Amino acid sequence: PARGTTPPFADLNDRQREAVEHGLATGGAGPLLVIAGAGSGKTKTLASRVARLVQAGADPNRILLLTFSRRAAGEMAQRVGRVLHRVLGQATTQAPPTFPWAGTFHGVGARLLRDYADRIGLAPNFTILDRADAEDLMGMQRQALGLADKVERFPLKGSCLAIYSRVVNSQQRLDQVLQQSYPWCFGALLELKQLFKAYAEAKHQQHVLDYDDLLLFWSHMAADAAIAADLGQRFDHVLVDEYQDTNKLQAAILRALKPTGRNLTVVGDDAQAIYSFRAAEVRNILDFPAQFDPPARIVTLEQNYRSTQPILAVSNAVIALAKDRHAKDLWSDKASSERPRLVALKDEAAQANWVADDVLRKREEGIKLTRQAVLFRTASHSAPLELELTRRNIPFKKFGGLKFLESTHVKDVLSVLRWAQNPRGRLAGFRVSQLLPGFGPASARRLLDAIEAQPDPLAALKAFKAPPAAAGEWSTLCALLMDLAANSEWPSDLERVVEWYQPHLERLHDDAPVRLADLDQICRIAQGYGNRERFLTELTLDPPNASSDESGVPSLDDDYLILSTIHSAKGQEWQSVHVLNVVDGCIPSDMSTGTSEQIEEERRLLYVAMTRAKQHLALLTPQRYYIRQQHRTGDAHVYATPSRFIPGRVARMFEQVVPAMAASHGLPASTEPQIDVGAKVRGMWD
Ligand code: ATP
Ligand code: MG
Repeated sequence: PARGTTPPFADLNDRQREAVEHGLATGGAGPLLVIAGAGSGKTKTLASRVARLVQAGADPNRILLLTFSRRAAGEMAQRVGRVLHRVLGQATTQAPPTFPWAGTFHGVGARLLRDYADRIGLAPNFTILDRADAEDLMGMQRQALGLADKVERFPLKGSCLAIYSRVVNSQQRLDQVLQQSYPWCFGALLELKQLFKAYAEAKHQQHVLDYDDLLLFWSHMAADAAIAADLGQRFDHVLVDEYQDTNKLQAAILRALKPTGRNLTVVGDDAQAIYSFRAAEVRNILDFPAQFDPPARIVTLEQNYRSTQPILAVSNAVIALAKDRHAKDLWSDKASSERPRLVALKDEAAQANWVADDVLRKREEGIKLTRQAVLFRTASHSAPLELELTRRNIPFKKFGGLKFLESTHVKDVLSVLRWAQNPRGRLAGFRVSQLLPGFGPASARRLLDAIEAQPDPLAALKAFKAPPAAAGEWSTLCALLMDLAANSEWPSDLERVVEWYQPHLERLHDDAPVRLADLDQICRIAQGYGNRERFLTELTLDPPNASSDESGVPSLDDDYLILSTIHSAKGQEWQSVHVLNVVDGCIPSDMSTGTSEQIEEERRLLYVAMTRAKQHLALLTPQRYYIRQQHRTGDAHVYATPSRFIPGRVARMFEQVVPAMAASHGLPASTEPQIDVGAKVRGMWD
């Protein structure tokens, strides 16, 4: 391979190249931190560094590349492939390398745990609980222990799991977590301890792991000297994108992998930390350099290559008001006479209408739909827009909303596979057995207890006497499970399960054809995975989104508008970006105005949203929005004021758009919001 910096790296600026070349000349690299603002090329630099390492002889099989989603990992690997192709030139006939260890912390953790399971006391056939299953298992323990009756205001199963998860991820004690984040639960300290112990035992008993266990057991492995040495040698280079959103446990894992920081590179932006609600720790990135001796090299980048000057100026103005930040001066040389727009609308229907019009107008101007995105704080905020897009036949794909895998029929099918892989898993077993007519919950418990009591779970399955009404169906299911357990063949395993499931589906659901189409799609997705285990693991950890037939207009069109929560839009960019509901109560969310840290996180969230835009940016401020399914109060329309993150001084940097308010609905235009009887009025008076 060529030596030195060949033209493909000439598209980097000097600072970026410095990060790419770090340590290469001396044959070994100390720890490296790239900390820089949005759109400054951190991810590009990281991908180029990987390419450069491979060019210099590193083995792609021994590079650990950690990103925030599986999709981001895939994109990064492709990007590296393209750079390498250019670097190595057309002369080489080699296929671009693949990076088997590019993925998320959780995905990589699951694979490593599988390899080392027996050495750390885990069953190698463990299955992974998704969030809903984990909540259910927590709920079962909660009920079994009768804790809710003992303690007044004992947290619900979802909150119990959230507390548990925070304890694990923040590496703090339960009492500390309660004091800081759940003070109203402090009275339940002892009962929660008891509950969490029972929950952990149940998981162990059933050979199941929850998401947090993937990190927790990985860190346990790393703490075992022999395994740590093994793991450390397994990866020559470790590189991490979006480091600002890692938690304490993830930092500990990295430290164990690369204790001296040698060949460890992390990149991130503290101004884009948006996962502290999941115990991410922005201190990780700020404290990174000093944890090594000698400390990490720090590279900062200041030129933003993504956005036009006016977009960058408003984004900078929003984040400049943040407290505690690593100050950065981001600049852009992309001049534009178009200012970002701040659009005042009557309500969410008008907002949907305006966005749909604007999206079509942009498409006319030549910006494909896939290069346009609509972002929102909470998945439900896009509902009126989804209706409008459907009505107008504008195809779209939604990211970060209801997950495909959460639908009952998909869960049913996956549960059969999970149960075959791990017969001790009670949640899967319960779910599957309940599909059989005549097989009640009491029989299921009898069955699951029998399996638990036997050293050979399959023998217990086989020996089980089902209730007479279910006997025929039971023996068919039993034969299928035995077969799946004995000879797994992928993806035909899944096809067999779907075939078995079809009559049940038709009996249980009126819309069976639609659901069958989903299952067909899952079968197609399955072909992309080498084996059952890999499929189940990766699907559970990072589910693909619903197909267009679930959340959009069914269409063969490959051009579709992107709808995404801001959290899922991290790291990406589009020509044109609309941000919905930039009003108090939505951004910042009413759920997150308890502490000043929470409000600061909401501010960063808006900053992340705005900095996704390359050419066009519009923030929408409906004067009224709808709250869905609030506890106690019921659904309600709420009057709103523009987000507190856009004070007058910042608002004046935008082009103010006030469309003739109700014109499109044939009503007289009016800027006076009309008040519905019973509507909650708030905010508009101050
Ligand atoms: P974020 O903080 O949002 O993750 P980032 O810092 O990772 O952003 P990238 O996504 O890597 O930024 O880059 C943003 C855009 O700028 C991309 O389109 C990228 O191709 C482009 N870019 C980065 N560096 C350069 C450069 N030196 N010359 C030209 N374009 C660049
Ligand atoms: Mg990035």
